[in-house]
Amino acid sequence: MAQPHADVLIVGGGEAGLGVADELRALGFAGTITMAGEEPRLPYQRPPLSKGYLSGDSDDESLELRAPEYLREQGIDVWLGRRVASVDLTDQGGSAVFDDSTSVAFDRLVLATGAVARELPVPGAELAGVHSLRSVADAALIRDALRAGGPLVVIGGGFIGLEIAATARARGLSVTVVEAAGRLLERVCAEPLSDFCLRTHRAAGIDIRLDAAVVELVGTDVGAVSGVRLADGTLLPAEVVIVGVGAVPATGIAEKAGLECRRGIVVDPAGRTTHPRVVAAGDCTEQPHPHLEGELLAIESVNNAVEQSKAAAHTLLGLDPPARGVPWFWSDQGGMKIQIAGVSHGHDGYVVREEAERITVLYFRGGTLIAADVANNPRDFMAVKRAVAERRTVDRERAGDLTRSVKDLLREGA
Ligand SMILES: Cc1cc2nc3c(=O)[nH]c(=O)nc-3n(C[C@H](O)[C@H](O)[C@H](O)COP(=O)(O)OP(=O)(O)OC[C@H]3O[C@@H](n4cnc5c(N)ncnc54)[C@H](O)[C@@H]3O)c2cc1C
Repeated sequence: MAQPHADVLIVGGGEAGLGVADELRALGFAGTITMAGEEPRLPYQRPPLSKGYLSGDSDDESLELRAPEYLREQGIDVWLGRRVASVDLTDQGGSAVFDDSTSVAFDRLVLATGAVARELPVPGAELAGVHSLRSVADAALIRDALRAGGPLVVIGGGFIGLEIAATARARGLSVTVVEAAGRLLERVCAEPLSDFCLRTHRAAGIDIRLDAAVVELVGTDVGAVSGVRLADGTLLPAEVVIVGVGAVPATGIAEKAGLECRRGIVVDPAGRTTHPRVVAAGDCTEQPHPHLEGELLAIESVNNAVEQSKAAAHTLLGLDPPARGVPWFWSDQGGMKIQIAGVSHGHDGYVVREEAERITVLYFRGGTLIAADVANNPRDFMAVKRAVAERRTVDRERAGDLTRSVKDLLREGA
């Protein structure tokens, strides 16, 4: 049988892979597009997996990003349950080899392989009842496990860990979060927001242990997890353990193919890799970003996957990519909504605006507003997102004045 051929082959059927396919068609590309994804289902949204999907508020169908009919109409050929093992690149394109040794030739390649959950390097991590969350299959297992009741121990006080903890607690489970650092969300936000989160989750009845290193997961005779042992000897009882210690970009194929990779596949602002026929987008990449000059950024967010995929599609067609917007992100943790606008990394100070049920942290660099982290204040989030895009700022001296709204302060300028 002749080897199948795609004008554009997309490896990875997630937010970024779908985004490239969609944008290629929107730009009028009439060639063949094949999207190969190792998961057995059409592209779906991941954010609800740690939120509404676990609580039962969103079902399987509502996760779907596009209907099958739409993909057919657009002529996007989706191959499900197909894992690409490696790619061979040539000056004209190349070919991809699947796990089952079949292959497909392509003129141009898109790598949109996402990320995988980071493993916890302690004894017992393989016991039954220990889960990590990346895919809908993982989420379905966790949902069933939570239905059976707790106690639940979440290892990692980052976004995903805290979302799962809050969802499980709202369902009445006994929940403990174990965080090795001295505060929650340490990698992504300033201390005042960490403290705000800590208070909110503790008030909801979640037991949070900071500065607590996990040394071992303890199991029963039949290989099911029964507890989490901390460095100080404490043994926390657990029927279910979630490991939420971050994600690692899926760079395996790119590395084997000789593309430059650091933490992720290195791309330029237009999504180009170090091979002229290959672009990449989404969680598998690291990129320069106009909102943080001089460094490569790995941004794990829907907004980033969508923007990078648009850029990559333009590049495939030899067009200039659209300008990048302000990076943004959200996290729903029970009743608390955290929103982030801009890149706070590299700030030289921040101003906190805290009221009873909400908090806004405004970040500055050289007197200019560069980002905000917000909890329960969508107005401040919107105002800052717009201002950072338009390079408008507020007077840092007056930024903490709670008698004025952030919007008013922005109107007055620096
Ligand atoms: C539980 C969870 C909650 C989240 N919540 C939020 C949120 O609240 N807000 C937000 O902005 N972002 C959130 N994110 C992040 C967001 O979902 C990701 O940034 C986004 O999905 C990235 O899209 P992607 O296409 O790069 O990767 P993915 O969506 O991970 O898709 C990559 C796909 O490629 C497939 N693949 C990998 N290797 C191969 C291969 N060799 N062959 C074939 N297929 C392959 C994978 O199986 C996967 O289906 C969340 C993520 C998770 C996991």
